Amino acid sequence: MSKKYVIANFKMNKLDAEVGNYVDELKEKVKDMDLEIILSVPFVSIKTAVWHAQGTNISIAGQNLNENDFGAFTGEINAEMLCAVGANAVLVGHSERRNHFKETDVVINKKIMKGLRSGLLSVLCVGETLFDKKNNLTTQVLQKQITESLNSIYANELSHIVIAYEPVWAIGTGVIASKEEISNAIKTIRSLLVDLYDEKIASEVKVIYGGSINEKNVKDISSISNIDGVLVGGASLDVDKFYKIACAFNTEKKTKKKTKSEQKSK
Ligand code: PEP
Repeated sequence: MSKKYVIANFKMNKLDAEVGNYVDELKEKVKDMDLEIILSVPFVSIKTAVWHAQGTNISIAGQNLNENDFGAFTGEINAEMLCAVGANAVLVGHSERRNHFKETDVVINKKIMKGLRSGLLSVLCVGETLFDKKNNLTTQVLQKQITESLNSIYANELSHIVIAYEPVWAIGTGVIASKEEISNAIKTIRSLLVDLYDEKIASEVKVIYGGSINEKNVKDISSISNIDGVLVGGASLDVDKFYKIACAFNTEKKTKKKTKSEQKSK
C-alpha cells in the first residue's frame, strides 16, 4: 500500500524560531510513521525547517512560487530558489492565492510546470466556492481547474503532482465536507484524469482532501476508501493536533511492525 500524505499549511503564521521548535517536537513524535509528512512553511522559515528536519521523514514545502525565472519580480520567489534552500514541494493554486492574489488556472499551470521542471512535488489545490456548490457547479469547476492547470503536463510527470480537493467553503470555516461529498469529488477528479490521461495514470495520482480537518474529525475522514491523505491549515499550527491527524493516516503495516519490536524489547 502506498503512503498517505499528511500536509500542513502554516499560511502566514509562526516566526522562524517557532517553526524550528515545531519541527523538533514533531520529528520525535512521527519518527516511526510510514507517511509522507510535509510542512508548508513561510518562505523565510524554509531553511530553518529544512535544517531541523534533516534525516527525518518530514519534508518541507513552500506555499507558493512565481512562474517566472529570475528577473524583475520584486517580492517573488521562484522554483529554483525554493530548491536551493532545500524545499522539495510547493503548494500551488491555494484558494487564498486564487482569491486574494487573483491567480488564474493559466498562471497555476505555469507554476506547476516550473515546479516540475525543478523537481518539486506540486500540491495542486482545487475546489468549488459556496456559490458554485449551491448552483451544482462543482463538477464543472473541478473540470476547468484540473484541465487548465494540467495543460501540457505529461503523464509521466503526474507522479510529482498531488491534487488537493479543497472546497473553498470548508477552508478555515469549521464546516467540513461530508464523507460522501469528499468521496464523490475524488471520483470526479479521477474520472477527469481518465479523460485527460488514462485509467492507470488516474488511479495512481494521489488525491487528498483539505478543509477544516482537525484532530476530532480526522478519524472519520481517514476511513474514506479513496482518500490519499489530507491538507491541514488551522489545526496544523498545533503540533499535538497535527500529530493526532497524522496518526489517523499512519498505515497499519507500520503499526504492526512497531508492536513486534516493542514486544522484543520487553
Ligand atoms: C488550507 O488552508 O489548505 C486548509 C485546509 O485550511 P483549514 O484546515 O484551516 O480549513
